[in-house]
Amino acid sequence: MGEVSMEVRIGLEIHLQLKTQSKMFCRCRNDYQVQDDPNTNICPVCLGYPGTLPVTNRRAVEYAIRLARVLHSDINPNPVFYRKNYFYPDLPKGYQITQYNEAAIAQGGYLPLDFRNRDRKVRIRRLSLEEDTARSIQTDEGEVLLDFNRAGIPLIEIVTEPDMHTVEDVRKFLENLRMVVQLMDISDADMEKGQFRVDINVSVGGGERVEIKNVNSIRDVVEALRYEINRQKEELKKGNTIRQHTRRWDDYEKRTIPMRRKETEDDYRYFPEPDIPVLSIAPMMDEVQSGELDDPFALFDEMAAKVSAERKGYENYLSNLEILMRDRDRDAIRFFRDAIADEEVDPMVASKWMINQVRNMEALPPLDQFKKLMVMVQREKLPAHKVKDFLRRIIEGAILDELLRELEKGPSDEELEVIVRAVIEEHPDEFQRLKGGKKGLIGFFIGRVKKKNPQADPGKVKAIIEKIVEE
Ligand SMILES: [Zn+2]
Repeated sequence: MGEVSMEVRIGLEIHLQLKTQSKMFCRCRNDYQVQDDPNTNICPVCLGYPGTLPVTNRRAVEYAIRLARVLHSDINPNPVFYRKNYFYPDLPKGYQITQYNEAAIAQGGYLPLDFRNRDRKVRIRRLSLEEDTARSIQTDEGEVLLDFNRAGIPLIEIVTEPDMHTVEDVRKFLENLRMVVQLMDISDADMEKGQFRVDINVSVGGGERVEIKNVNSIRDVVEALRYEINRQKEELKKGNTIRQHTRRWDDYEKRTIPMRRKETEDDYRYFPEPDIPVLSIAPMMDEVQSGELDDPFALFDEMAAKVSAERKGYENYLSNLEILMRDRDRDAIRFFRDAIADEEVDPMVASKWMINQVRNMEALPPLDQFKKLMVMVQREKLPAHKVKDFLRRIIEGAILDELLRELEKGPSDEELEVIVRAVIEEHPDEFQRLKGGKKGLIGFFIGRVKKKNPQADPGKVKAIIEKIVEE
């Protein structure tokens, strides 16, 4: 038997619930956080009653336009909605309003896999707008409960080309996409809440693709893929052929289980939705502003360019920027971007304190105070332990200038005495000689005390030493 090619090709279909106020085609509240009582956010439109008319949610279209820009996709100025017909309990109308092939809102584009190596990217095939189906819940008694609050929630479907070849590629892609939509603030992309749902298509050795559904976390995606790739390789080694079909991930048994033969497009009898006219979104494409954090990769480049690549520590600076972006904390990113917009602030120094200290603190410091503090650090005016202390205190509301004045005033008499006694303890022989009458040694002790605290006043130190000598 010849060498069998075991090339792995993975493509993804992601369904992203959008954080809009209302549903995709009606004015019902978007029960995005899964918090309302079941079947309370429903109306004749999202339940598909005869004679009702769907109206497209403008905000959802805006979100799709913005996401298409970040993904470098071509936006279709005249997208069309289609009916996808199938019979299933979670589908109130008997069809889902969705988009179809070239009629979708955007085509093509890509998302990079790495911040540092932009050659690695996954191509996007298509971006579609559609409505969600109802939520179905299986009870332990074997009943199926339906919550139509979810029916009609706006979704963006993102279909990738099968450009991923390893489990690691898939993990990176999903983390990057989640980062993008969270920073855009168009979705919280919480997989456990069903806001970010992933179907995986995987083929091995040029065989037909197998779809895996029902995967509820990035960790599960990784586990399901490892299992499935292995399974297909074993089948091929035995000389078996892989047929196109759908499987589901069983989180409990940690394996994929066959569900059904994959439906073909013919099964769905797609046809244009007669109740929604073809959209003309060219004017919107001009009007819609991108959010300031829409493209983390562009923002990363912009911040990276503030430091010369020749400078020592540049790689660490890039790592810090990457940590900042991957934390996906919108306030922290804006804060840091604003801090380094000030020419007096050294981005490299600021990034170090941002990642090592501020990131672990309970709140962000006031921007002007942080910038002032960073400038002092750059001038090497403060020891590291003082910077940490000051960061903590300006977060609590202290004013940096007052902290500095306090610092300049030097230690109190009590603090000074503690330092003097510590120095004496470290130099018992010299102290005995001083006590024995060698007055010249006072200068030696003042010097040691100043080394521990440069703000110590020599006159006060002298007085304290003389007092201790008399004891
Ligand atoms: Zn409704």
